[in-house]
Amino acid sequence: MTDVRPNRFDTLAIHAGQHPDPTTGDAIPAIHVTSTYVQDGIGGLRGGYEYSRGGNPTRTSLEEQLAAIEGGAQGISFASGLAAEDALLRAVLSPGDHVLVPNDVYGGTHRLVRTIHGKAGIQHTTVDTADLDAVRAAIRPESKVLWVETPSNPLMKISDIPALAGLAREAGLLLVVDNTFASPALQRPLDLGADVVVHSTTKYLGGHSDVVGGAVVVANGGEELAEQVRYVQFAAGAVSSPFDAFLTTRGIKTLSVRMQRHSETAQTLAERLIEHPAVARVLYPGLPDHPGHKTAAHQMSRFGGMISLELAGGERAARTFAESTRVFLLAESLGGVESLVNYPSEMTHASVRGTEAEVSPSIVRLSVGLEDVTDLLDDVEQALDRIR
Ligand SMILES: *Cc1c(COP(=O)(O)O)cnc(C)c1O
Repeated sequence: MTDVRPNRFDTLAIHAGQHPDPTTGDAIPAIHVTSTYVQDGIGGLRGGYEYSRGGNPTRTSLEEQLAAIEGGAQGISFASGLAAEDALLRAVLSPGDHVLVPNDVYGGTHRLVRTIHGKAGIQHTTVDTADLDAVRAAIRPESKVLWVETPSNPLMKISDIPALAGLAREAGLLLVVDNTFASPALQRPLDLGADVVVHSTTKYLGGHSDVVGGAVVVANGGEELAEQVRYVQFAAGAVSSPFDAFLTTRGIKTLSVRMQRHSETAQTLAERLIEHPAVARVLYPGLPDHPGHKTAAHQMSRFGGMISLELAGGERAARTFAESTRVFLLAESLGGVESLVNYPSEMTHASVRGTEAEVSPSIVRLSVGLEDVTDLLDDVEQALDRIR
């Protein structure tokens, strides 16, 4: 008899948390657009649901699916990626505590730690998380959290998750990995030793640029932490709406095939772009000369759909390129089916200008979508040709 194990990634992404409706047989669970739930006598809850800030069946579906695809104990979903990060930090930090964040962390994460949590008495240090000695040197007695983003945004730096997990364990730090860029279809940080994964589900998990959302997924063994995060979700209230949860669930079902195609097309583009005289550097971990290539090959199954370029002509060239593409839309965000071009220093990373996390004005970032690869190649080449 064949061993039936319906627990592999592609199967879980489609079926986890998706229980067909017992009364109607709906293959796709209904979107539970309700704020409250009728009680059978005071306190007589029918499914444990009382009020939708505390719990909603559509959100529960998504949370089960998130836990399954990251291989964690619990998924906890939020109204945005930053709301998820904020809830996690509130759950684990007290005034006087210290956080280590990557020196090229997502600008919004840096702003959250610097301004919102800084005001609450949280200290932080930015550090190159690809450099283990630098991380070790930056740890203080008050350090509680080691935050990692790999690949990083927008410099596509690769940090070694198993090595950082060892370091975090030794120093008693919580290792948090922002897995937005890779997604669990390509990289599973909890399997590699991380304690917590965070996501902007706005990006690859949603995958269609039509929903803003976020998630925290806590590793097995971290049930107590999961309860603390869930408490912040309930008590501070930045929950995802039923419709947003539904859209995210629907996106996740095709995550695996999308990541495969995003990665293939990005690899082709990256290899072509390095040939172009207007391009000084292509930052893509799938290229053999990328400094993180070997580490990425160990911890990722493919290299993803994000590419950054440094233009030989500096700021002027980068601006011209970003404003000249036709298929790549000039917009913030990433991870959707449509290709996007972004000018980090004035768009996604404007909030970190003048800080250690500032991004060079010569850099442009591409989110490679699912369009025809030849159309995408033609588009970047015509935009590069305008620079010369
Ligand atoms: C977009 C993004 C976030 C923030 O998520 P929102 O959904 O925009 O709040 C966090 N981390 C990374 C890597 C991102 O790209």
